[in-house]
Amino acid sequence: MQFKSYNNISFKKTSYYQELPNKEREVFDILSSVFHFKINNYVAEHLIDWSSVPNDPIYKLIFPRKEMLPADDFKYLSLLYQSGLDQKTLAPFMEKVKQKMYPDVKFVDPSLPKVNGKRVKGMYSNFGTIVSLFPDPMAKTCHSYCSYCFRWIMFDNREAQKNSSYTDPNEPVPFLKEHPEITDVLFTGADPLVLKAQTIKEYINPILDIESVKVIRISSKSLAWWPYRFTTDKDAEELLELFRYIQSRGKHLNFCAHFTHVRELENPVVKEAIDRIRQTGVVIRCQGPLVEGINDTPEDWSNLWNAQIAHGMIPYYMFIEADHNSESCFRIPLAKALYIFQTAQKQTTGLARTVRGPVFMNELHRTLLDGVVTIENKKYFALKSLQAPPNTIGEGNIKLIPYSETIKDVGDLVALFSDQSQVTQIN
Ligand code: SF4
Repeated sequence: MQFKSYNNISFKKTSYYQELPNKEREVFDILSSVFHFKINNYVAEHLIDWSSVPNDPIYKLIFPRKEMLPADDFKYLSLLYQSGLDQKTLAPFMEKVKQKMYPDVKFVDPSLPKVNGKRVKGMYSNFGTIVSLFPDPMAKTCHSYCSYCFRWIMFDNREAQKNSSYTDPNEPVPFLKEHPEITDVLFTGADPLVLKAQTIKEYINPILDIESVKVIRISSKSLAWWPYRFTTDKDAEELLELFRYIQSRGKHLNFCAHFTHVRELENPVVKEAIDRIRQTGVVIRCQGPLVEGINDTPEDWSNLWNAQIAHGMIPYYMFIEADHNSESCFRIPLAKALYIFQTAQKQTTGLARTVRGPVFMNELHRTLLDGVVTIENKKYFALKSLQAPPNTIGEGNIKLIPYSETIKDVGDLVALFSDQSQVTQIN
């Protein structure tokens, strides 16, 4: 299959758009001017069940939904849209609403690595032993865009991309040499595997020379969005050869595969792609967010984990969708998230017992929602800080907060885990 992608303008020329229900077409026209949109021919032809739109989970995974905007803003844009103004006249109004929607992504200054007092561009270090790297070409795009992705601000903002990424492949080297405690390097993006194998190699090569780096991680949704990357793409063989080469240099290569729904694993080409990657010796660990309306039942997750295990992959993390306003339409209440996780685990082969979740990351702590405990007839959520930056109080600690059926966020985790008491009140 030859890769072809559609943006908010070219998609309107496809038969898929023409056949959408009228209401959905209007929602698409309005929202795709505010939010990012990209779909490719594989997702359109093989993953979306168009007869189930708008409730189809993969459709919801790609197409923006009106709940992404505050109701008043959606109404305002609808009225403008219905007034028949042309795209150019509408643009400033769309932009005004877009500015308000910038997600609440938290950058924590002390985690920005420096060499000789100078910031290392495109490198982020939340925890003591791992850094995330954003080479400029990897920060640009993905094979398709997920509606819930907070990185949408980068996709059409060249300035933001430049400020948060690096172009010289050697940029991270001095810092990594100065910090032998860093054992893991994560290449992330957008999606690094959109790039040609040769370009990926240029950025990974300098890291392979650093003895103290033991693990190379590549985070990608390409298995779900474009499995041909590993089968029939022109440089598919070269990419697999790169995977072998990284391991031949003594590094563990971890493929962090992003899957959201079991349907992403059902086409034979995905199985073929997974087999080809595994034949190189690479370990594929799977993670994905729990998202309202897309994968919010225990069966969604047990089906997903069972399929991952059947394909020889390791279920790794279930994340709570992060970095949007905690009341965003993608989030579900913590109590429901925990129920889904625990019920799904019971319905899955015992090999899924190692998957961790629901896990969320705010402020400094990567936190596990570990269960519910009852003390003196009162119920509490048990939260465990799985990881925190060095010198941060609280890593490994367990905290109890009052149970609630409805809360979607636990508030300030830094304060929570700095507090010496066992049970902390939330407001
Ligand atoms: S593939 Fe990953 S980076 Fe790209 S849009 Fe989806 S979640 Fe965001």
